[in-house]
Amino acid sequence: MGDCIFCKIIEGSIPANKVYEDEFVLAFMDIQPINKGHVLVIPKKHAALVHELDDDSASKVFQAGRKISAALRKSGTKCEAVNLFIADGKAAGQEVFHVHLHVIPRFEGDGFGLKFPDGYESKPTGEELAEMAGRIKDAVEG
Ligand code: AMP
Ligand code: ZN
Repeated sequence: MGDCIFCKIIEGSIPANKVYEDEFVLAFMDIQPINKGHVLVIPKKHAALVHELDDDSASKVFQAGRKISAALRKSGTKCEAVNLFIADGKAAGQEVFHVHLHVIPRFEGDGFGLKFPDGYESKPTGEELAEMAGRIKDAVEG
């Protein structure tokens, strides 16, 4: 895809430190790691957003994420736990519009975390949850 930097990494016109590759996916080191050992897994077929990805590529991305997660834990990297994270769209923090799964080594006190919005403590009512579930269920089926 034209000027997509991750497509360029797949083509080889931009360098990357690769850790895993198969027919469907490529995994390489993030150049600005949240913690040491931060890896990105990308599908070889360009798609900007997760729902635009074909089922096979989506499965292979997650399979590779599991492989990298297991590898990180035995690689000597400081890795007490792992976050598997996708920013799917600009408002979710996505900056590179080629789907990528972050595989981030985590350890106690590393300083990384998610911030919860104001009002998070006040849970929705049962009716509100049911109404939302209904709308989403209809959209899944439609
Ligand atoms: P996101 O905010 O989820 O879109 O994350 C984009 C990620 O891509 C960031 O963690 C960047 O550090 C990383 N990144 C951007 N360009 C490159 C590159 N050329 N090689 C490796 N990682 C990159
Ligand atoms: Zn791309």
